[in-house]
Amino acid sequence: MARFRADEADNYGGNGGAGYFSLKNDKDVARVRFMYNSIDDVEGYAVHQVEIDGKKRYVNCLRAYNEPMSKCPFCEAKKFQTAKLFIPLYNVDEDRMQIWERGKKFFAKISSICARYASKDNLCSHVFEIERNGKKGETSTTYEIYEVDRDDTTLEDFGEVQDPIGTIILEKSADDMSFYLENGYFPPEGDDMPVRRRGRSEEDEVPFREDRSTRRTPASSERRRDRF
Ligand SMILES: [Zn+2]
Repeated sequence: MARFRADEADNYGGNGGAGYFSLKNDKDVARVRFMYNSIDDVEGYAVHQVEIDGKKRYVNCLRAYNEPMSKCPFCEAKKFQTAKLFIPLYNVDEDRMQIWERGKKFFAKISSICARYASKDNLCSHVFEIERNGKKGETSTTYEIYEVDRDDTTLEDFGEVQDPIGTIILEKSADDMSFYLENGYFPPEGDDMPVRRRGRSEEDEVPFREDRSTRRTPASSERRRDRF
């Protein structure tokens, strides 16, 4: 499984990078399973895109749509906020987990797929072929999704599905965002965060081997998950 921790997330920072699902050329196809039981599992994320060390990264927005701008310094600074789906896929052809990044319009498509195929709450049991229609770089590219197989596979067969928040979506505090707006970079991470620049010494091992996607600090348990 392609689980990764926050300190490895730089490897996943761009479209088509390791860990991301992509079909690069017109008529490319791949067979996948969606790592969902039903539409109830599908979550959207409000994020801000920023540049860190020359790489585009997403930062979790701190504000619910009905909260004042002042809750999120990036919103207040009119930094572009966007709604994304990070769809966990099992790529059957490559035998590994991947994330398919889609805009929120894709909610309609995944909704109708769930309505059609997940009536018994097990979308994961279906294998779909995804076909790209559109040349490289074409903004009008669309994806057709066809069911090609079905079996008794369940989500439990795959272990835990990775949480995008804290991995591909960075979690930053309001203070850190304000710092970024002033300085163009985030302050060095505190003790709670993985240490990226140091080599992995023995003292690092215990705290950082813990699986970040299952950690729940008080702050992260309150974090917002928008559904569209
Ligand atoms: Zn925001």
